[in-house]
Amino acid sequence: MTNEEIYEMACQYIPGGVNSPVRAFQSVHTSPIFVKSAQGAHLIDEEGHEYIDYICSWGPLILGHNHPVVTDAIQKASQYGTSFGLPSKVEVDMARLIVESYEGIDMVRMVNSGTEATMSALRAARGYTHKNKIIKFEGNYHGHSDGLLVKAGSGAMTFQTPTSLGIPESVISQTIVCQYNDLQSVEEAICHYPQDIAAIILEPVAANMGIVQGQSHFLKGLRRLCDEHHIVLIFDEVITGFRVSYNSCPQYLGIVPDMVCFGKIIGGGLPVGAYGGKKEIMQLISPLGPIYQAGTLSGNPLAMSVGIAQLTYLKEHPEVYTHINHSAQYLAKGIQDILANLHLPFQVHCVESLLTLFFTDQEVHNYKDSQTCQTELYAIFFQEMLHQGILIAPSQFEAWFISDSHTQDDLDKTLKAICQALVKVYDAMAD
Ligand SMILES: *Cc1c(COP(=O)(O)O)cnc(C)c1O
Repeated sequence: MTNEEIYEMACQYIPGGVNSPVRAFQSVHTSPIFVKSAQGAHLIDEEGHEYIDYICSWGPLILGHNHPVVTDAIQKASQYGTSFGLPSKVEVDMARLIVESYEGIDMVRMVNSGTEATMSALRAARGYTHKNKIIKFEGNYHGHSDGLLVKAGSGAMTFQTPTSLGIPESVISQTIVCQYNDLQSVEEAICHYPQDIAAIILEPVAANMGIVQGQSHFLKGLRRLCDEHHIVLIFDEVITGFRVSYNSCPQYLGIVPDMVCFGKIIGGGLPVGAYGGKKEIMQLISPLGPIYQAGTLSGNPLAMSVGIAQLTYLKEHPEVYTHINHSAQYLAKGIQDILANLHLPFQVHCVESLLTLFFTDQEVHNYKDSQTCQTELYAIFFQEMLHQGILIAPSQFEAWFISDSHTQDDLDKTLKAICQALVKVYDAMAD
């Protein structure tokens, strides 16, 4: 069957034909490919076309697709059973690996997705502080739980609107949306609700409005404000965890949060999330304390075994980080050279192995800046890249993920394709 034929059938049985919206390729005006298999940095679709993949399952596959470290771990673990619903030692090994890697964190709870991790961390923060409101930042994504699907109004104190139907206003009223990299917007919110804010949650390096680095004075300011006002600082490291360094953002940015959320990489491609924090917070989680949180498949032995294998490999092979960071920088530099040659004013952001090419001539430090991007140009760019066998994020506002499996040959082929695709963009702009 062709991709189109499968898509048509998919649309009959699954809303929009996909199990997560961005996979529908809607914002780049094309229909999705259906993946048959993947190996290393390469994907093959149902029609037999091969692509160099920069989605890498949205981040978990830091070693690439179908890596032997991961497949061996699945095979070994599957001999012993798929789920017990009772404690198993692999859960302890996993928790210990995470806690030992992350400064300031004493305990973790395993869950099944990033969404569950952030939702549970916020409950813990509220239970711990006995306060209700939370601060999040426009353009930061923390999964799809009700209180986090919020669009910012104009100004921090105006009423917020949900990004989705089906979310009660009473839930949204507890969420305050501030501007990323704008400490003053946070100070104003705290000033307005001095007794009410339980937590500030953020992506310390934002990866869901394109890659945008959290600036040092902003992050330091948040740390200070949280200390002064008894607010729990939560780093959502679902993308950045074990990505920007083995020791994640405290190492990379030099700021230590009170709680952290993981997902993606810690599962190596299996469905996993985790939230952790200081002992004084985590000891309030059931059955130790009165904050309830549970999961039938949480700490699943297959997922734990794969996570342990991938994290252990990363710990023992720091050269992985050197390689992926270098590869991303090589791409970023190559793109910058092409842009300069074509006199195109676009922005390249590269944070370690995460990359975004913003189709705007404005600097991008927050969500409003990112919205100056010409997404129609991105669509042209994406389609031409796909045509040339390079699969990048099907949205202007997602990161490109570099894995350890991307070879020099892959990178050079990619730059060649980028050059041709940018010429198409240039022509479209001239029209
Ligand atoms: C992907 C993501 C989530 C949600 O994780 P899911 O496993 O998709 O529920 C949360 N936070 C960030 C920063 C993410 O990138």
